[in-house]
Amino acid sequence: MASGISLYTALPCRTQFAALGGFLLPVLLREAVEQERGRVEDLEDQDDELREEEPAILCRACSHIITAGDQQIEVAGSHRHTFFNPVGIVYELGCFARAPGCSLAGESSAEFSWFAGYLWRIALCGQCGIHLGWRFQSAEISFYGLILSHLQSGGK
Ligand SMILES: [Zn+2]
Repeated sequence: MASGISLYTALPCRTQFAALGGFLLPVLLREAVEQERGRVEDLEDQDDELREEEPAILCRACSHIITAGDQQIEVAGSHRHTFFNPVGIVYELGCFARAPGCSLAGESSAEFSWFAGYLWRIALCGQCGIHLGWRFQSAEISFYGLILSHLQSGGK
């Protein structure tokens, strides 16, 4: 676990999740989770370079290039999602297909996932290590849910 991030504050919120009603992740068999973990590890090195002509999106703390404007995607019908964690902190996340500037921390987990059917890992700035969000992985796709207030536009 990276310094400065407790497991507690990094966990998506069970209450908020339950409040979504009918959105609860089906209980996954342990074998299925383990199998999924193997697949997640396989995909982890697939992030490659961003296209230079795209406006960069930077870590607000250190200006490291995290992702780019053309990586913004919609998940469940929206680019932006708002969630609460168990201590009531609001996270406004933006969804990005790739974020090569992030490094991942911790084991992938299916617990309390904000997005049904996805495992998540913590995503940190690859340069300064600040917590930037989570990488979500399903059997089909992966994407990053990044905390928008921790990012800034690089202009260009
Ligand atoms: Zn940074």
